[in-house]
Amino acid sequence: MYIVNTHSHVYDEAFDDDRDEVIQRAIDSGVTKLILPDIDSTSRERMFSVAQQYPQTCFPMLGVHPTSVGEGFQKELDTFFAELPQRKIVGIGEIGIDLYWDKIFLEEQIEVFTQQVIVAQERNLPIVTHVRKAFNETYKALRTVPTQEFKGIFHCFSGSKEEAFKVIDMGFHIGIGGVLTFKTSHLDEIVKAIPREKIVLETDDPYLTPVPHRGKRNEPGYVTLVAEKMAEILNCRTEEVADFTTENALKIFNLNESDF
Ligand SMILES: [Zn+2]
Repeated sequence: MYIVNTHSHVYDEAFDDDRDEVIQRAIDSGVTKLILPDIDSTSRERMFSVAQQYPQTCFPMLGVHPTSVGEGFQKELDTFFAELPQRKIVGIGEIGIDLYWDKIFLEEQIEVFTQQVIVAQERNLPIVTHVRKAFNETYKALRTVPTQEFKGIFHCFSGSKEEAFKVIDMGFHIGIGGVLTFKTSHLDEIVKAIPREKIVLETDDPYLTPVPHRGKRNEPGYVTLVAEKMAEILNCRTEEVADFTTENALKIFNLNESDF
């Protein structure tokens, strides 16, 4: 059984003391590929150095996270564009719109998001989208870009069933993580409603730890708990979930099955 974890911040400082063990635990449980979403220039070097250390396991992206869009947004965007031709990456992310904290930089968030979407499309790279309390704003922003063909993931999806189908209609996949294991989650209905070809697995570690580790640090290998829960919901074997989500993820990120 092999699983691609499409969203792991294993380069986060939360793993500085035991990163090697954490990655080895993931590999041992079959989670042999981790896609690393970028945040901004403050954590980027750490991400690329972890990716360089684990070239068979960790695949980095490049992107400016919406919560990193503030006063200094132009400098972040300039750095992103300067690094883009120099870095070996599998996608653009995580990018998007986040209105959870406030709406002060909404215009700037839209600007930074759209510019990154456009360049991803020019380079035929998938995008990993972070949307928090901003579905309509994100949807509208995506509708303004010149090419209306999208490839990528709406990560940690938390919207309604209708929104899930809007996302799929645009060409995106739905990223499902630890929230699926929470009692209060309605994600099970979405997982049952959407086609399997459109689902990928993720952890968003060190956050959103699945049951039964909730409250503690999340880690990339825990994506197996999400796969198990999904198998329970879909009434199939965990191996099946691993197979179809891995196939979907490999396609999105242009990774080779022979790498496993
Ligand atoms: Zn993330």
